Amino acid sequence: MTWPLLQMGLRVEHDIFVVRQRGREVAAAVGLEHQDQVRVATALSEVARDLLRAVGGADVTFTAVPDAVDGRHHLRIELAPVGQLPGGRYEPQSGAVARLVDTLDVVAREGDTVVRMSRRVPVTAVALTPEHLAELRADLARSAPGSALDELAAQNEQLIAALDEVRTQRDELAVLNEELAETNRGVMALYNQLTEELEETNRGVVALYGELDEKSAQLRAASESKSRFLANVSHELRAPVTAIIGLARLLADSASDPLTAEQARQVGLIRSSAADLLALVNELLDLAKAESGRIEPDWAEVDLRPIFGQLRGTLRALATRPQVELVVEEPPAPAILRSDAVLLAQVLRNLLHNGLKFTERGEVRLRARRADDRWLLQVSDTGQGIAPELHDRIFEEFYQVPGATRVGGTGLGLPYARRLVTLLGGTLEVTSTPGAGSTFTVSLPVGGV
Ligand code: ADP
Repeated sequence: MTWPLLQMGLRVEHDIFVVRQRGREVAAAVGLEHQDQVRVATALSEVARDLLRAVGGADVTFTAVPDAVDGRHHLRIELAPVGQLPGGRYEPQSGAVARLVDTLDVVAREGDTVVRMSRRVPVTAVALTPEHLAELRADLARSAPGSALDELAAQNEQLIAALDEVRTQRDELAVLNEELAETNRGVMALYNQLTEELEETNRGVVALYGELDEKSAQLRAASESKSRFLANVSHELRAPVTAIIGLARLLADSASDPLTAEQARQVGLIRSSAADLLALVNELLDLAKAESGRIEPDWAEVDLRPIFGQLRGTLRALATRPQVELVVEEPPAPAILRSDAVLLAQVLRNLLHNGLKFTERGEVRLRARRADDRWLLQVSDTGQGIAPELHDRIFEEFYQVPGATRVGGTGLGLPYARRLVTLLGGTLEVTSTPGAGSTFTVSLPVGGV
């Protein structure tokens, strides 16, 4: 049960002053700050005036009510009208009154209609224990209300204080506005500077791109002339080299004049050198053709099994070392993909040939494996392997790993193979452990390009 702190009647015009004054006293007693005291007192006198005019008066009760949640107190002021409120409702004459307090409602209390307002006591105030409240109640009962003049004087003082406060706030606002304008100017300056820097950078980037385009065009032109040159030179070389081979064969023919043993050996050397040269020229021509885009894959459904069978047959002749076994595994069926059978066979032959060249003992193995929508064709060997830092270089034209070249070759096989695989829409990669062997993997899309 919460006992009221103070109760009083409102019956005549003069009581409005008293109610206002007592309201302020109670507000101060429960710990509301000065401004809140004035707010509560003002709201109360407004409502008191309204009720006096509308129904001829009210009974006013002041109570400190603890909050159900946090136990802090509200100052609750209830005005029970002495007559029936028109329509059982109450609207303050001035709309601003409701803003002076936390709540202002019309509530039903024990069958009556009561106007109730409340304001929360700040947490900084002294806690309102039951003993403290009893003291306050006694104090308030003792203190007699002052005269209307006293209240007018107090009201004037409050007005001056409020005006003062408003002026201070206005001054502070002006300072804040000035600071804001200053900050705005700074932000604008920074923004402009950034915009300028961005534009400058943009201009630089655009210029760089222009230069890059120009360089790319030059590079493309250089690459095209290199391919053209290689194609022309190899084409021009092919006829005389073929002639040399033919002539050497004629010289060594049994129908020709007999040669001394030394002459026969030298003619043999001429023939084999010319054959090497012809192989080089042919490879150069192939590569130049692939680079200049003159090789067009002949797309068709390709079955890997006959290709593997053919490779097994033709490469057996090259697997001359007895300690090296050539294993061509049977591809898992169905081994169909969209590709160019001739180009694909060329690539695999090249890789198998390399494997056989660079493997002293063990095996060279070709196998096919399906991975999602790709076929992985792997040529692995147990040969000398390739150092990791050379994995990119062996795909450069004419590059041969130093010390590994005694087996012959031109250094054009792998770049050509990679070109062809690219044309077929795939990739050619190597993994290798020096001393243990290498694996070249051709990865091709099942559906072609
Ligand atoms: P080459 O005509 O010399 O075989 P490639 O372009 O086919 O030219 O290969 C380039 C070089 O890569 C070879 O000279 C060799 O040093 C190295 N290489 C290629 N395949 C293998 C392999 N299976 N094992 C070890 N080294 C290899």
